[in-house]
Amino acid sequence: MRTIDHVLAAGTTGSGSSARTHKIWNPSTGEIQAEVALGDAALLDRAIAAAKQVQPGWAATNPQRRARVMFAYKQLIEENMQELAELLASEHGKVVDDAKGDVQRGLEVIEYACGIPQVMKGEYTQGAGPGIDVYSMRQPIGIGAGITPFNFPAMIPMWMFGMAIAAGNAFILKPSERDPSVPVRLAELFLEAGAPEGLLQVVHGDKELVDAILDHPDIAGVSFVGSSDIAHYVSKRGAEAGKRVQAMGGAKNHGIVMPDADLDMVVNDLAGAAFGSAGERCMALPVVVPVGEDTADRLREKLIPAINALRIGVSNDPDAHYGPVVTPEHKARIEGWIDTAEKEGAEVVIDGRGFSLQGHEKGFFVGPTLLDRVTTQMESYQEEIFGPVLQIVRAKDFEEAVRLPSEHQYGNGVAIFTRNGHAAREFAHRVNVGMVGINVPIPVPVSYHSFGGWKRSGFGDIDQYGTEGLRFWTKTKKVTQRWPDGGGDGSNAFVIPTMG
Ligand code: NAD
Repeated sequence: MRTIDHVLAAGTTGSGSSARTHKIWNPSTGEIQAEVALGDAALLDRAIAAAKQVQPGWAATNPQRRARVMFAYKQLIEENMQELAELLASEHGKVVDDAKGDVQRGLEVIEYACGIPQVMKGEYTQGAGPGIDVYSMRQPIGIGAGITPFNFPAMIPMWMFGMAIAAGNAFILKPSERDPSVPVRLAELFLEAGAPEGLLQVVHGDKELVDAILDHPDIAGVSFVGSSDIAHYVSKRGAEAGKRVQAMGGAKNHGIVMPDADLDMVVNDLAGAAFGSAGERCMALPVVVPVGEDTADRLREKLIPAINALRIGVSNDPDAHYGPVVTPEHKARIEGWIDTAEKEGAEVVIDGRGFSLQGHEKGFFVGPTLLDRVTTQMESYQEEIFGPVLQIVRAKDFEEAVRLPSEHQYGNGVAIFTRNGHAAREFAHRVNVGMVGINVPIPVPVSYHSFGGWKRSGFGDIDQYGTEGLRFWTKTKKVTQRWPDGGGDGSNAFVIPTMG
């Protein structure tokens, strides 16, 4: 059995790992294809010792030299795109084209990080007082750590380490133990790009290692993405240990469909956004909210044939719209939610339970599911399902359509489909959700903006990547200076200086 190992600075590889391992499935075949070594606190100590060796020199390297490593890395990722996407698809289950998107959206943050000399420039005020200048500079926080989910094993690690390392930090990545091979390759390619050993290390593990990261006094900042309960826990425990923490959680994104929307476009967008990647996206659109009964009926009529036409296949089937879900436990959980929805009174219009793919009967496939007449009291509405399940919640008017996502416990993304600019503008201003799409089903902001949800979709106050990411991975130092001209200016510090 192939064992996936940690990526540590030379001399530490493999050592300090606990004897525990975690099995890696091939979700398309239902077979175990590898195992991953699970690390412990001793392993983390070794990684941190190596990070401490290398980080000061890296921080002192001028930013254009650091950027050159990012440029070389960008090129290597592009050259290895196909290999990375196939590896990713084989462990995650998403189809290869979608896996390329996963790599690409991370790569875009690396591209942004290539501009680090520009974005890290500080501020300067000449003459803030008599003969006094004030300037501020951004300095790296030191050693950062990232704890990432299974569903974007390339993009989310790159969101974090791309920004953190370009800004002068060393980085310890603890990827999901369910699909760890791509994060390992990403770290290997980073070395190939010319990064010094120990700057980016990958440690595999589960809760034991996460706790060790959260408690470690030498880790200054932790970025987490995963489910909300764990995000909340990470946020509290990390803050308790005196670290800065950003922790993104789960989601239940709504797509509002106004009566004047282009329904053919909506159906096409919804099919991809609800069922792409088998619904295992935090920016998926698993809830559609048609406004008015007539809109709901027209939408449902168009949705049914579109959903029935979806092709489910193994992750390397080039014609498949989506592949299997990540583990057998997750398949059972999704089907359990469909059972719950049915018991709660939702109408199961298209039932994906018990789906089996011919020739791959052991794969973890779930058929596309459409539920209608879902209401806000239902647990299956309130909780995240994270599978290929689309729920229709009928709203009577625009006000109710604004209220539904605004009052939901999650506030990651939301979309509105309409031709009415005023309605769209009102909606974008009023809705209590962090990321809004206007006729855009998956509004993941580009790398030079920032990503982050609200409410239980995001704990901590700084978003991922862009200038927000830079803020997270750096601290500002403020310098107030004057230079004596030999005469003294007669000021004293018995009275708090006001600088006149
Ligand atoms: P998860 O919460 O199970 O795991 C995330 C990370 O936490 C993994 O690295 C895992 O090893 C670690 N972990 C698991 N259990 C832990 C515990 N008890 N204590 C400490 N650490 C623990 O999430 P997942 O299933 O890998 O990913 C799917 C979830 O992530 C969904 O809820 C999805 O919405 C969310 N997600 C959110 C965003 C976002 O930006 N808001 C992006 C992607 C995914």
